[in-house]
Amino acid sequence: MKKHNFSAGPSILPKEVIEGAAKAVIELDNIGLSLIEISHRSKEFIAIMEEACQRALQVLNLENKGYKAMFLHGGASLQFLMVAYNLLENKAGYVNTGTWSTKAIKEAKLFGEVTELASSKEDNFNYIPKGYDIPKGLDYVHLTTNNTIFGTQFKEIPTTDTSLVADMSSDIFSREFDYSKFDLFYAGAQKNMGPSGITLVVVKESILGRVTRAIPSMMDYTVHAKADSMFNTPPVFPIYTALLNLRWIEANGGLKGVGANNAKKAALIYNEIDRNPLFEGFAAVEDRSEMNATFNLVDDSHAAVFDKLWTAAGISGLKGHRSVGGYRASIYNALPTESIEVLISCMQEFKKNI
Ligand SMILES: *Cc1c(COP(=O)(O)O)cnc(C)c1O
Repeated sequence: MKKHNFSAGPSILPKEVIEGAAKAVIELDNIGLSLIEISHRSKEFIAIMEEACQRALQVLNLENKGYKAMFLHGGASLQFLMVAYNLLENKAGYVNTGTWSTKAIKEAKLFGEVTELASSKEDNFNYIPKGYDIPKGLDYVHLTTNNTIFGTQFKEIPTTDTSLVADMSSDIFSREFDYSKFDLFYAGAQKNMGPSGITLVVVKESILGRVTRAIPSMMDYTVHAKADSMFNTPPVFPIYTALLNLRWIEANGGLKGVGANNAKKAALIYNEIDRNPLFEGFAAVEDRSEMNATFNLVDDSHAAVFDKLWTAAGISGLKGHRSVGGYRASIYNALPTESIEVLISCMQEFKKNI
């Protein structure tokens, strides 16, 4: 039986997407060959790459606005340094909202001066800082729009004339949003887009070529943009699977449709966390993530009872990250409402048992 998959990443994908990807591994579109044994320069794969890049921009409402979508290797972690390599000449501002922002800051410091504009570290990153100043003269400001581990999410994006850059690994394609506020954003695929192995990078082409340093080809956005993500052999399987997922998002009403559904799913789980006296939410209420709901038991000594209940109900991947403890329900696009209802009934059953 298929489990209720609350994993934070790699994570749930729509059943149709997994089936379509499996089919293409056996044989792609009746061409007598598998997706993973054809040249990436074949007309079949070039069409897949072009459609994936075009659909990504279309879903994000960024078509014909000067943006380039690219599928690169190395995960979001490589983007921590590629962003700075390509954009940091003098000084950049970072908002530190968790483990991933902290790692991004560490890498950027290898390339120039980094100023931490704000941080919620003193409260174990349980909120999104607001109301800080953004000084003039920064090369860019970097945000992490959704903090996968702590379960916080930016609802408002700071207003600034400076280029905004964001790590959107765990909330890309999850909500209607003005993506044109950003000059560059990136997302490792394995949270809400596809299998691991690719990172979507969307960049406003006019910001490239600003720094004076020499950049190795594989690190250079301009090189990848010119080569249409084919500078070297791209990871063909995750790109194809991401394309199927983009088609699925469009068939489900685009970001308006999936966003409305995600908001409803998040409200269900947070309502139960708030009304059930045995649980408490981790993140500040106004900053709660619609992708990763973090919560703890009020009394940890009952953990074994609760763990047994949800495990028996076929739930998988609910344990919180070690830096937060407790539980984390990752409720990405593909997670059905039914899975959330099963989790809520476990929480209610737990209350009856204690
Ligand atoms: C998972 C995650 C990362 C790391 O992604 P990799 O693809 O493993 O490098 C970075 N940022 C955020 C917000 C994440 O959720």
